[in-house]
Amino acid sequence: MHPYRGKVIEKMETAFIYTDAYLDYDYGPAHPLRIGRLKLAYELINGYGLLDLRSAQFLPTLKAEPKELAVYHSEEYLNILREANEGRITGEAYLYGLGPGDNPIFPGLLDWSLLVTGATLQAIDFVASEKGKVAFNIAGGLHHAMRSRASGFCYINDPVIGIMKLLSRGRRVAYIDIDAHHGDGVQEAFYESNRVLTISLHETGSTLFPGTGFEYEIGEGEGEGYSVNLPFPPYTDDEVYVWAFEEVVPELIHAFRPDIVVTQLGVDTFYNDPLTNLDLSILGYERVLHRIKDLAPKWVALGGGGYDIFNVAKAWTLAWAVMNGVELKEELPEPFFKEAVKMGIEEKELRGRARTPRRSQNRENRAEMEKVVQYIKRNVFPKVKS
Ligand SMILES: [Zn+2]
Repeated sequence: MHPYRGKVIEKMETAFIYTDAYLDYDYGPAHPLRIGRLKLAYELINGYGLLDLRSAQFLPTLKAEPKELAVYHSEEYLNILREANEGRITGEAYLYGLGPGDNPIFPGLLDWSLLVTGATLQAIDFVASEKGKVAFNIAGGLHHAMRSRASGFCYINDPVIGIMKLLSRGRRVAYIDIDAHHGDGVQEAFYESNRVLTISLHETGSTLFPGTGFEYEIGEGEGEGYSVNLPFPPYTDDEVYVWAFEEVVPELIHAFRPDIVVTQLGVDTFYNDPLTNLDLSILGYERVLHRIKDLAPKWVALGGGGYDIFNVAKAWTLAWAVMNGVELKEELPEPFFKEAVKMGIEEKELRGRARTPRRSQNRENRAEMEKVVQYIKRNVFPKVKS
């Protein structure tokens, strides 16, 4: 054996994929998804020096080929997106989920989707071709897009296209989605498959879009047991969330034995997110990320929701630090802080003061989640095999 072989295998090689070209696109002034959040996250990551790590590579985003979208999305839907990309609005577009509201028609929306999906495919390729163990596409994770319909700010489902690429290379994939919204598009794509284990942790569909993701949605046919849902009640805090994660996710990952874990790392679970009702803090988010790192033999990380842009920047900076095994100092880097002040952000610390959980809500939420966890243990655990 080569004397350095062990060392090479142990080396944690990571890739961060990004381009300022994202900023050429805009969902519109009133839309909650502000693409500038990606730039802010990039600036904070760079400000901490996390793109200069010896183990880390920076990969500028390359657009996907239009034909790469057709592995999942229907031809008629892609034609509508091509029309919309040129700013042409046909009456039919409404039938495919496009129009004023969540999924606006803006110039270049297909080009934007090709960039996002391209970055996901670069992350997939980096990890699947053994160049490294971890890759992070902060622009990705657009988990609501359906085969023939835009939904929830998502036009093209980059997680599904990335996972399909891994399947075509014979890999087993576990998908873990920690966005506040149910990962419905990804669940639907693999609902009848036992080659992809999807696990979504989210605010219950009783109180939040898209209204799905209940514990009894466990997959169908060969896929029975391979769709897993943890719907949390409003105001769930770090303690209950991390407890439920620990009860369910590690055992399922050990039973399934994936080659690669793909994650959607939405940041809209935080107590101060303007669109949702969960009550997590950055501390709970960080604990879950450490656990995912322990559990994933290889890790393709995608971004996701998050509508307080400072939360997004801080949480994905912390995520990238976890991926690289780096501890960050609490004080935000000076150049970043100077920019942040101009945007009205006055916090100087990465994690800030941990928020006091709402204990009164905690007991009811814990009781509710104990029922959900028991349901999953009874109905899902026995079915999941490697
Ligand atoms: Zn979300």
